[in-house]
Amino acid sequence: MSRLFPIASSSSGNCTYIGHRKDGILVDAGITCKGIADGLASGGIDPKSLGGIFITHEHTDHIQGLRVLVKKYGVPVFASKETACALMLTDVAEVAEHIHVLESNVSIGDLRIERFSTSHDCMGSSGYVIRFPDGRKCAVCTDLGFVSEEVHHALSGCTAVLFESNHDVNMLQKGTYPPHLKNRILSDRGHLSNVSCAAELQRLVETGTVHIVLGHLSRENNRPEIARRCTVAALMDKHMVEDRDYTLYIAPPKNGKAIIF
Ligand SMILES: [Zn+2]
Ligand SMILES: [Zn+2]
Repeated sequence: MSRLFPIASSSSGNCTYIGHRKDGILVDAGITCKGIADGLASGGIDPKSLGGIFITHEHTDHIQGLRVLVKKYGVPVFASKETACALMLTDVAEVAEHIHVLESNVSIGDLRIERFSTSHDCMGSSGYVIRFPDGRKCAVCTDLGFVSEEVHHALSGCTAVLFESNHDVNMLQKGTYPPHLKNRILSDRGHLSNVSCAAELQRLVETGTVHIVLGHLSRENNRPEIARRCTVAALMDKHMVEDRDYTLYIAPPKNGKAIIF
């Protein structure tokens, strides 16, 4: 049994557990340590069993609980070289001895975790593919301005994917954000729109993706039902029907549930 468990997912905090039998890791620790521990407990997972915490990048919504979590449980942290450097400029520097630079991949128990690069407004941002001993794999990929070939290659063939569906372009353009922020989000180093997300999912289902989790939804510029509609319609164009050909789960900002596969 493998699990993809979005404990928290939104512009205000991200943390995902991925596990297979006794082995498990987190991707990001962007809510409080207590929030993460409570989330894990709701899935019957002991924080002490975590084999690693993989950080996508240093923005607060991805590292808020990291320092306390590492201090309390001594879990090793993995990140790209640039992200590891950036973490040293935050309160995470206090637990510097637990931070490891991940060049390409590492094994944690029976899991193999591979890093790939994403395009975001910071240096060295990452997504992660987790390979299970039975040959299947899953991925967590959020905070990206566009889907590069590297991203598509990494996600191809993943049974389960947590993928960013950040905003509805119309809502963002008509919304109250200042122009510079709108431009940042819409840029190639910003966030993935519902439409861009759905377009990539059309490609991914053809590579074998069957469990789709939409994540990192903007609270301001998106609605779960809009993100869902966009993906379902795009997959319908490929004659893919929800709950027949794939499952779809919209990760809530908190108290998410695990996808078992
Ligand atoms: Zn970010
Ligand atoms: Zn983020």
